[in-house]
Amino acid sequence: MIYLDHAATTPVPRAVADAMYAVLTEQYGNPSSQYPFGAGMKKQAELWRAAVAALMDCPADRLFFTSCGTEGDNWALRAAAWQNRHVGRHIVTTAVEHSAVLECCKWLERDGYEVTYLAPDQDGTITAAQVLEAVRPDTAAVSVMLVNNELGTVYPVAEIAKGLTARNPKTLLHTDAVQGLTAFSARTLGADFVTVSAHKIGGPKGIGALYIGPRVKNPRPLLPGGGQERGLRSGTEATAQMAGFARAAELRLERLDRDREHLAALQAYAREKLLAIPDMVPVGAGTAPHILSVSLAGWPAGNIVTDLGGQDICVSAGSACHQGKPSHVVAALKLPKRVAAGVIRLSFGPGTTEAEIDACAEALRRHHDTRMPML
Ligand code: PLP
Repeated sequence: MIYLDHAATTPVPRAVADAMYAVLTEQYGNPSSQYPFGAGMKKQAELWRAAVAALMDCPADRLFFTSCGTEGDNWALRAAAWQNRHVGRHIVTTAVEHSAVLECCKWLERDGYEVTYLAPDQDGTITAAQVLEAVRPDTAAVSVMLVNNELGTVYPVAEIAKGLTARNPKTLLHTDAVQGLTAFSARTLGADFVTVSAHKIGGPKGIGALYIGPRVKNPRPLLPGGGQERGLRSGTEATAQMAGFARAAELRLERLDRDREHLAALQAYAREKLLAIPDMVPVGAGTAPHILSVSLAGWPAGNIVTDLGGQDICVSAGSACHQGKPSHVVAALKLPKRVAAGVIRLSFGPGTTEAEIDACAEALRRHHDTRMPML
């Protein structure tokens, strides 16, 4: 199989699975138990937290484990709205956020919030000035993702954070960094909330984390209950997932520069190979090294994904080609219909090879040469 969909999820390396297995079978104590077999896990949990915090470059005591990126996004938005409930009921976000943010915003709208959804240009670009201009005296929160999951576009979160201080110092800033986990330092980013998820970096599914910065005074608990995660997110700790997340973070940190170089080289290679195919055009001004978005203009993406899938080549049609319609991200770009219809995403991991890209390019060329385009 050729797996070019690392933005969807990633394989778990053996070392990560081993760390999880040991916890499941040997160190399975409940961190809330009184005896050492359980209580020892509380200390262990702090070591796992520290490992993830090291990758994010943030203080461990401001990092909270969640069950996934979706949970972190929802928690952050709700907590920001709660802290700033006396500031106002306005939220600024973008039209290209993951649905974890967009759907939460829709719920906030039902609760009486007004949400401004900023549109990108045709390249997927949204500038810091555009975001700051939308901020008002009653803006409780701004949520702008770090790396777009479909386009690879990197958004100017640090610049937005700096600008917010002057524009409205009360407004809290959230960033969904699920696709950018190896590409930032929470310390210098300046966001008040940063969401990450383990399964995008070789960790298990079912665990994420949320950084909550010092400007968030008394964060609203996500799950009141037994008091885990310093009272903010109760529920018995998912210790095996924590162990896996921590190990994946350590592995990533060890190979950070090597992986970045490898991914950037692969992306450049893939871009050249793919754009040599007739009717293939680039989509978005993506700059994250692991994501490449292109369109086989005129050939429906759903058919491409099925055709390649039948040859054991995994790519995706945007975040999902919902019943033949382009995803909300592709729709927001307002591309010509034939280009929008053919948008596919390739995303790479540390183990991806040029030979795999060659095989994918070959299959795409065959698709172009043998399948009928749309009318
Ligand atoms: N945000 C972005 C940008 C994503 O790409 C994803 C997953 O694809 C999520 C949030 C949701 O993360 P999770 O699958 O951990 O809920």
